[in-house]
Amino acid sequence: MHVLVLGAGQLARMMSLAGAPLNIEISAFDVGSENIVHPLTQTVIGNGLANAIEQADIITAEFEHIPHDVLEVCEQSGKFLPSAEAIKTGGDRRIEKALLDAAEVKNAKYAVIQTRADFDAAIESVGIPMVLKSALGGYDGKGQWRLKDIAQADAIWPEMEACIQASETQAIVAEEFVPFDREVSLVGARGKDGSVAVYPLAENVHTNGVLSLSTAIDNLELQQQAQQMFTAVANRLDYVGVLALEFFDVQGQLLVNEIAPRVHNSGHWTQQGAETCQFENHLRAVCGMPLGSTQLIRTTSMINILGEDTLPSEVLAMDGCHVHWYGKEQRTGRKMGHINVSAEYTAELQRKLCALADILDEEAFPAVHEFAQKHC
Ligand code: AMP
Repeated sequence: MHVLVLGAGQLARMMSLAGAPLNIEISAFDVGSENIVHPLTQTVIGNGLANAIEQADIITAEFEHIPHDVLEVCEQSGKFLPSAEAIKTGGDRRIEKALLDAAEVKNAKYAVIQTRADFDAAIESVGIPMVLKSALGGYDGKGQWRLKDIAQADAIWPEMEACIQASETQAIVAEEFVPFDREVSLVGARGKDGSVAVYPLAENVHTNGVLSLSTAIDNLELQQQAQQMFTAVANRLDYVGVLALEFFDVQGQLLVNEIAPRVHNSGHWTQQGAETCQFENHLRAVCGMPLGSTQLIRTTSMINILGEDTLPSEVLAMDGCHVHWYGKEQRTGRKMGHINVSAEYTAELQRKLCALADILDEEAFPAVHEFAQKHC
């Protein structure tokens, strides 16, 4: 089986690693250069979307900001999963919000802004404080503003207006500020036959909008809520593959923040912590194979390596620590790899995170140090 992944980053790389035992071969399509590349070596092995589609049995995606013409051509081939609709939904906050409403899934109150009059109306209807997010192209907290006081509205409007006017299809989604206790996410898979298998929830810590630490948690009440919302969204999209839902936990009530129609950074812990990792399950789903068990096998945390290309050797020396590098050139703040740290018991995992805080640099691993301050 030959699967083409739209996007040539770390997610395609990890799909390739997970697909090999199942004889699933991955090639990656760099949407910018139109090169077909090997997902591990980045060696160019071909060029052009038509060629890439021709060679593939199945086509899928590792990111949602894909030009719509590319999505349409892939969809027309009859090989594309989950679907152009699902990818477009993840890439446009307006469509995403409309889907959540249609699926009757709780999310933050919102309004769409295109003009200054819309902005003023949103201040009335959504209320202050509010979070303003670009409808298209936003990720990892980029393209966002906070409005805490009405007096700031005139100051931020020119920036918002410039963002809207930069493209004909752009808009801004104003969202009520949610006073959440924590952020959690649910990663799961839906098969071609409609079967659903979800992983345990992960609790996520972001630093400056970027995921830093993600830990599988055991909370039956939240898990049930999340699973119900996951199933509603996945069924609505007739989704096939791995899908992630990010939530705000507000005193035990979950609100969906956003969806990602792909394997997700907050699911990387499954490589060591679950019976079947998210990358294998995505491939199983899109290739029409039975889904693998999503059972937790060891309590696990994932720590993103941001902007660093080396680690102290004590990390690899620690029992239960696995390092996954992405083979990328170093840049400040860039996701360069991640560490999965596993243990038999929660208390043991906490001890390992405390030990890692002693080893890892505070600036590059803020969430581990934050954890240590609270728990060690
Ligand atoms: P997003 O790109 O939507 O995931 O937003 C990036 C981060 O901003 C989230 O992980 C939250 O920490 C925060 N955030 C986003 N939307 C809201 C909201 N409506 N209320 C409070 N915080 C938010």
